[in-house]
Amino acid sequence: MSSQYCERCKQPLRPGRSFALQGGGSPRTRGGAAPPAPDLRCLKCALRHRGLLRRSLMVSLVVGTILTLLNQGDTLLAARWNNALYWQIPLTYCVPFLVATYGALTNTRK
Ligand SMILES: [Zn+2]
Repeated sequence: MSSQYCERCKQPLRPGRSFALQGGGSPRTRGGAAPPAPDLRCLKCALRHRGLLRRSLMVSLVVGTILTLLNQGDTLLAARWNNALYWQIPLTYCVPFLVATYGALTNTRK
């Protein structure tokens, strides 16, 4: 059995605790060229992967905005802000961010 190492921090990777992430900062291929092999990363480095964070942030912005409008739209449009909104709205954006990140890590786990 060959041991594998995190592409970023060079720590040894344990089975089930490594993540194969695409686009580790290398330029994108164009014109039908084969995509580069995914980078294997440990959990700590996977959580700092720029592409993963960008996708999770985009999901959070879209889904969080929709959920905020659905749940708090009437309050916001009526300009009846209460103190609970100051934690409810940020939490509404955090949930899809965490779900998207968890899903990406689950789907790329090796
Ligand atoms: Zn690492």
